[in-house]
Amino acid sequence: MTHKVTLIPGDGIGPEVIQATVRILEATGVKFEWESFAAGAEAFEKYKEYIPKELNDSIERTRVGLKGPVTTPIGGGFSSINVELRKRFELFANFRPIRNLPHIPTRYPGVDLIVVRENTEGLYSGIEHEVVPGVVESLKIITEKASTRVSRFAFEYARKNKRKKIHSIHKANIMKLSDGLFLRCSRTVSKEYPEITYGEHIVDNTCMQLVMNPYQYDILLMENLYGDILSDLCAGLVGGLGLVPGANFGHECAIFEAVHGSAPDIAGKNIANPTAVLRSALLMLRHLGETDAALKIRSAIDEVYRDRSKLTRDVGGTAGTSEFADAIIQAMETQSTAVAASDQP
Ligand code: ATP
Repeated sequence: MTHKVTLIPGDGIGPEVIQATVRILEATGVKFEWESFAAGAEAFEKYKEYIPKELNDSIERTRVGLKGPVTTPIGGGFSSINVELRKRFELFANFRPIRNLPHIPTRYPGVDLIVVRENTEGLYSGIEHEVVPGVVESLKIITEKASTRVSRFAFEYARKNKRKKIHSIHKANIMKLSDGLFLRCSRTVSKEYPEITYGEHIVDNTCMQLVMNPYQYDILLMENLYGDILSDLCAGLVGGLGLVPGANFGHECAIFEAVHGSAPDIAGKNIANPTAVLRSALLMLRHLGETDAALKIRSAIDEVYRDRSKLTRDVGGTAGTSEFADAIIQAMETQSTAVAASDQP
């Protein structure tokens, strides 16, 4: 079977890490038909649209996307393409598993956390205006509908995957109405899942707790902005942004993308670590039912990190993005040969 997937290479380090990932995915033997599109500033130059209609139609058709980061201009310019895609396709749950890779030494070994971030509203609704010169207003939108559906996603995931605890993260002592509503919704949903321990922590305290003892958490559920910030913090616990994968799930479609942004400081130099996008692609393979290919890549990642000679700089190596990808492909080939050899009579 051939899987049709919408591919958004993005910009900055996006094209490099996506190209490396696509090469590895194709080396598994799974068949893909990629529908590749630009988005953001690059798309605007060509199509006068930040999200071209062709891209939009492709996602509606394939319902699965693999995406690199797209730069959002700071302090002006067009609104975030990442946020717009999540809103447009109602990809309401952002799912970010935070786990150590074997053989990467970090301050905290054995972390196993999941960040579930509401993806469609909060302060990322982008409703801002200047009230009078020198005074601006930015609206934080929290709805019962979005808070309930993302809470349900987190609890369903916990139930299916035998996770034990969910903490809803908030600042409802200050934002009594907005974060108060988010909390009420997660609390209500929690009652339907008595086997899962439910707790509530204030976001600033959570930051400290995560740095002091990340092991106390299991699943962290939160609105958009807290999810963005805590995801980067959690990435730091397990070796950095080059490693942590992500997925955006809706009822109809899913788009898989790393937690990191376009990292302009290292773009175009063949030094970015493609592991985060590659691990996002593993989530995609599982979503597509291609579990064997996912396992194959996963053990190749383990092998390359164990060997250490082809790692990128962010994790203490000297290899380039493409050399790392070559090493993963080589490790997959060695595995296949080993399996074939062990099948010999
Ligand atoms: P955004 O807010 O757009 O999501 P971010 O805050 O996640 O962006 P990044 O653009 O990802 O920020 O970059 C933060 C830093 O992390 C960069 O300076 C870069 O050096 C490092 N970094 C990010 N991704 C990678 C990667 N794949 N490989 C190596 N280093 C990375």
